Amino acid sequence: MKFFSVVCCLIVAFTLNGKHDFTSFSLKNGLRVVCVRKPAAPIVYMSVWYNCGSRCDAVGKSGVAHYLEHMAYAIKGGAFNNFLEEIGAEKNAFTWLGCICFYEVVPKEHMEEVLKYESARMNSFDIDHAVFASEKKAILEERNTLYDTNPVTLSCEATYSNIFDRTSAGINVIGWKHEIESLQEQDLFDYHNKWFAPNNATLVLVGDVDYQQIKPMVEKYFGGLKEKTLPILKTNDNVQSKVVKTITSKSSEVGGFSTSYIYLVPFHAKDNFRKYLGLSLAFQALNQPEAIIRKTIESATDKRAEIGFFYSANSSHDIVTIWLNGNSKNDLDDAEKIWHILKQKLQSDSALTNDEINAVKRQKLLSMAHKYDDIMDLAECIGFSLMDGHSLDNIMAEDEIIQTMSQQECNEAIREVFCSEPIAISRLEQEDYDEE
Ligand SMILES: [Zn+2]
Repeated sequence: MKFFSVVCCLIVAFTLNGKHDFTSFSLKNGLRVVCVRKPAAPIVYMSVWYNCGSRCDAVGKSGVAHYLEHMAYAIKGGAFNNFLEEIGAEKNAFTWLGCICFYEVVPKEHMEEVLKYESARMNSFDIDHAVFASEKKAILEERNTLYDTNPVTLSCEATYSNIFDRTSAGINVIGWKHEIESLQEQDLFDYHNKWFAPNNATLVLVGDVDYQQIKPMVEKYFGGLKEKTLPILKTNDNVQSKVVKTITSKSSEVGGFSTSYIYLVPFHAKDNFRKYLGLSLAFQALNQPEAIIRKTIESATDKRAEIGFFYSANSSHDIVTIWLNGNSKNDLDDAEKIWHILKQKLQSDSALTNDEINAVKRQKLLSMAHKYDDIMDLAECIGFSLMDGHSLDNIMAEDEIIQTMSQQECNEAIREVFCSEPIAISRLEQEDYDEE
């Protein structure tokens, strides 16, 4: 293992980043550390990524990962929180399907204290009873605002639960309402015991990092933590045999009608970086306001229906979701009919034109150039991609690879997905809905 390695990537064309200066190493207990040196300001974005997230919620305990994240800064009697406030650090945490991340942006002279607290958080967990109760209320309110009044979210959630053992898929990050309500403090302890381990975590440090200093510092605080035997999770290889079911939900509070279709992606993104990028670019093109499929559905329904494409790939599953949203039952019926005709184009090798692909490549490269420039964006881009199973080398060369992607590769990735039938469909309807 090489401790110090500097990789310079010369970027052609118009990308703004000239090079990346990064290194990575692992401790004996499996903790992975990725450092990217960006010394423009004397600050460091320090983040710890746990490769678990909602996909690791236990059966009947959906939402537990997200709940634990909410409790994150209340631990250790609030000492970590107080310290961060004192030094004026920026901090936050988030949960996604495949990860829980805690981050702090701190002046570089405080890196050591942050490592000390982060190692304590990995090692143990404690709960303030009052905070546990108040956070439960906050989470239920979050669920109500983000999910329970949104027809698209509800129909997607219903479809996912139809195809996956819902908790092993964990696609419902926030959790089901009745399960959030019944979560106990012990459930959070159990989750922490199972998944918070050095061999299930990655430190991503971006900013004014001194490579020579960081390794002994990490070793000092994390080296003594023991690795754990991690449970093996199901993957979507298991869902292929499920039959397609159409389910109907009825709610009087949801403002609209929505249908969602789930397709299984016939390749694993983590093993096929180019195909993953090809499908990502293709979906970005299909989601453009001027994309033909979007325009056709909008104009046929006088803008009363719309379509969206979502690609989700991580270590547990590789699926795409198409959602249709309509103001009324008739609008949704019309959108569904049009979708059935238009999707035939996606089964051909000419779904998107060269111009459409080149336009999204330019968009993507420009947004990546901005990302590379910002320590927080760059760290999050690296963290999410690592959690999804991509290699550091691929992640750091993503812009170079995108420049070489062809129209044919993008269309081929789309065709591979849509030449099969959806594995699940769900349609959300609303009773007594006033269309005005
Ligand atoms: Zn939250």
